[in-house]
Amino acid sequence: MASAQPDTTANGNTQPRPGPVEELEALVIGAGVTGLYMLYRLRELGVDAKIYEGGSGIGGTWFWNRYPGARFDSESYSYGYGFSEELLQEWDWKEHFSGQPENERYLNFFADKFDLRPHITLNAWIDAAKYDEESGTWEVTCSDGRRARTRHLVACVGILSATHMPDIPGIDSFQGESFHTSRWPLEPVDLTGKRVGVIGTGATAVQLIPEVAKMAGHLTVFQRTPNYCAPLRNSEIDPETQKQIKASYPEILKKCRETFAGFVHDFDPRSTFDVSPEEREAHYEAIWAEPGFKKWFGNFYDIMTDRDANELYCEFVRKKIRERVDDPEVAELLCPKDHHFGAKRIPLETQYYEAYNRDNVTLVDVKSSPIAEITPTGLRQENGDEHELDVIIYATGFDAVTGELTRMNVQGIGGQTIKERWADGPKTYLGLQSAGFPNFFIANGAFFCNFPRCAEIVAEWVSDCIGYMKRKGLTRIATTAEAEDAWVAHAQELTKDLLRSDVNTWFYGTNIPGKTDSFLFYAGGAPAFREKVAEVAAKDYEGFELS
Ligand code: NAP
Repeated sequence: MASAQPDTTANGNTQPRPGPVEELEALVIGAGVTGLYMLYRLRELGVDAKIYEGGSGIGGTWFWNRYPGARFDSESYSYGYGFSEELLQEWDWKEHFSGQPENERYLNFFADKFDLRPHITLNAWIDAAKYDEESGTWEVTCSDGRRARTRHLVACVGILSATHMPDIPGIDSFQGESFHTSRWPLEPVDLTGKRVGVIGTGATAVQLIPEVAKMAGHLTVFQRTPNYCAPLRNSEIDPETQKQIKASYPEILKKCRETFAGFVHDFDPRSTFDVSPEEREAHYEAIWAEPGFKKWFGNFYDIMTDRDANELYCEFVRKKIRERVDDPEVAELLCPKDHHFGAKRIPLETQYYEAYNRDNVTLVDVKSSPIAEITPTGLRQENGDEHELDVIIYATGFDAVTGELTRMNVQGIGGQTIKERWADGPKTYLGLQSAGFPNFFIANGAFFCNFPRCAEIVAEWVSDCIGYMKRKGLTRIATTAEAEDAWVAHAQELTKDLLRSDVNTWFYGTNIPGKTDSFLFYAGGAPAFREKVAEVAAKDYEGFELS
């Protein structure tokens, strides 16, 4: 979850700082959800481990993404760490879908409770990491010249942390304020009365837009592709419900372990076509009325594999959008028609569509006429329409899953970088290691999942592996090209029945110009992944060479 480096740091100009090189057994990159748990586990196993975090605070995603409206789309009680009954009982989630400030507080509370803070170095942007074959260690250099040498390097850099800024001419000429949502300032941003432009309508923008609409003098939303957005239905957790949640953590966590995506929701085992049209509509209405991702993961099982089944639900969602937007032309612009439900990540929203009924909000279609240029005073579309703005907010997403690693200068055997190795798409064994990069673990949890639930699987696996090596006196672990090829083939095979639409989506990297089109998740689901990695560990880390 944590971001390891700002976009601008991979400049190769870092000068090693004179002074001692920090010697470690394991260096964890990033103090987000995964990194914090990784550090906790490693220290429990007696490994001399430390986190280097590029930001000035703990929290990863929940440190960086502090834009108005940022909150969980996962049920709060399914998001916290599950390993400590004491922690589960001590922490009160205030809302069913908790907001960024509380989420950041939670991760800081976790770090304090387990005394992790002394082992976390903040403001430590890692610019480069180089494997030294002779010593079998990684030499790490930060952007301020600070250095470390570590036996194991564990990247907990998150899957949505490498900011994507669009390549629009004139972007630096803008004289007003501009922000990317994932680099939102620590100080509150005053948008009162201002002319604000938001570029993008993904899950981030969908949370942001209703909040900005309340503050801005005028808000202009620049939309290229509309999304199927579904109501979040957030509410506060009352004391009685709080008690029930705390009493049912074992069942909640068990459920999350069993479901495909680690949520409390599970697909309906019936096909869309097993039921009558009336029953189908009643099911759609019932899941629509529920909070959270029930409208996706509680749907008929064939929604993600059968195009006709999917289209029936798409039309249901379009009807819901049309009911909520007053102006029929605006409603049509907000209705997706070029992709199936789930082709892009479904944003969950609170009063998103109602925002477009406000007098101070305008929706501009930048598909029919793209943004040609950012000007000193706003932006201009290709059709010549000019939009005067005081503030531009880029809600333009991320170079997901691989971006943080390909931007960091990670050099394995023979000086090969991850960027070079993954030039034709990511190659890993279990998503956890790439051949040619010994002792370098990628703990991203790259499978479609309620994030902490999959982070838990990888953090436990990697820390156990490092603990195992320590116990056995082993110092080197490297996957083989054969194991990697077999895993990549298996992962690709799993994607062949998935529906695909020809739209930009970070699921396949197609939101980033020039990035290889490749499904960036393990499509077998979280339980299958957990089983697979457990089997590998039980067979003394089959597919890895240990020495
Ligand atoms: P995103 O889904 O990739 O959306 C980026 C948006 O920017 C898209 O609407 C895209 O349009 C638009 N865009 C990019 N370049 C553009 C250009 N040159 N001109 C016009 N529009 C442009 O990114 P995101 O909204 O930040 O969400 C990323 C992921 O973060 C989500 O899918 C979700 O997994 C996660 N997230 C989670 C939460 C949560 O848990 N509550 C909240 C927010 C985000 P196109 O679609 O046409 O490319």
